[in-house]
Amino acid sequence: MKRKNSQINRRNFVRHSVGAGVGAWALDRLPKTEMSSQSRSAGGPIIMTSHSNDTASDAMGQGWSILAGGGSSLDAVERSANVIEVDPNDSGVGNGGLPNENGVIQLDSSIMDGKTYNAGAVAAIENIKTPCSVARLVMERTDHVILVGQGALDFAISYGFEEVDLHTERSRNAYLRWREEHSDRDDYGPPDHLTAPDGEEEDYDDIPFHYGTTNVLAVDSHGDISGITTTSGLSWKINGRIGDSPIIGAGLYVDNDIGAAGATGRGEDVIKCCGSFYIVMRMSQGRSPQQACEDAIEFIVHKYRNVNPNFFPSEKFVAINKDGEMGCASMGSNRIPSMTVRNSDGLRIEEGVRTQYTG
Ligand code: ASP
Repeated sequence: MKRKNSQINRRNFVRHSVGAGVGAWALDRLPKTEMSSQSRSAGGPIIMTSHSNDTASDAMGQGWSILAGGGSSLDAVERSANVIEVDPNDSGVGNGGLPNENGVIQLDSSIMDGKTYNAGAVAAIENIKTPCSVARLVMERTDHVILVGQGALDFAISYGFEEVDLHTERSRNAYLRWREEHSDRDDYGPPDHLTAPDGEEEDYDDIPFHYGTTNVLAVDSHGDISGITTTSGLSWKINGRIGDSPIIGAGLYVDNDIGAAGATGRGEDVIKCCGSFYIVMRMSQGRSPQQACEDAIEFIVHKYRNVNPNFFPSEKFVAINKDGEMGCASMGSNRIPSMTVRNSDGLRIEEGVRTQYTG
């Protein structure tokens, strides 16, 4: 199934959001926090995720309990990411993620420890609910950075990880519908003589097609920074396709002297521009996390503008610096991007900036 690039008529790149583009909002059940400065400074220990649902709130609460007790950012991001990975209702991460074209759920995950400048990742790993914990073992118990496919699975099993079927009823049904409906040039689906004539098809919801990933970034009370990016990747992807999430510098990058960044969205774009590395380097040049996230979007847009002005990239970046300032920017979605944050001020959801062409 070919995706259609969103058509855009106007070509100037602008920031688009509420007010100065850095509002904070809260779900009803979360305390509302007003944020006004371009750099949302929180200071002290802090943890955030690019997700903004109930599971993300739970995840941030659990990560925060580690940070509040003086624990490491590394332990906090792993605990939080595990909560999101095992959520069966999240179709973009871990258990219950949407599968590849063969109906197999292949997960990508990376972790980086700013304190030790160490990193680990697994790519296209199957049957493991918590791939970021396998990535952590790659980081801490090998001299490698990435293990892939069967090798990653064998490695996980050697540490006692349980092999499980990651499909839920929802993810399996979504796949079976996709297989029947994504093309009329194959033989999946009811026999031709039982197919409804044109115009009389049943009224189905759209088949889900999406990216979906989570980034978790944290600074602990010692000032050490860690991050995780974890995903089931692009739905219906070609068997063996690896996105940006397990690529250090693309889907995730952490530097203890500067900060951390993570990416979601079309991984192919993020790999080509080394998105997370680019953001951290922009921060090292004095840009705020918010500005650096927007810089990365603009960098990608600029590259494509020269080739196809109608191409509309769909990345979302989040970043944090060592002072606990945060940023979040995206393009290609109608929604204002957001992130869930927990620090000593409490739990809240903050808006980032949606950038778009205009003219
Ligand atoms: N970046 C991920 C990938 O390309 C997907 C996503 O973020 O939604 O696999």
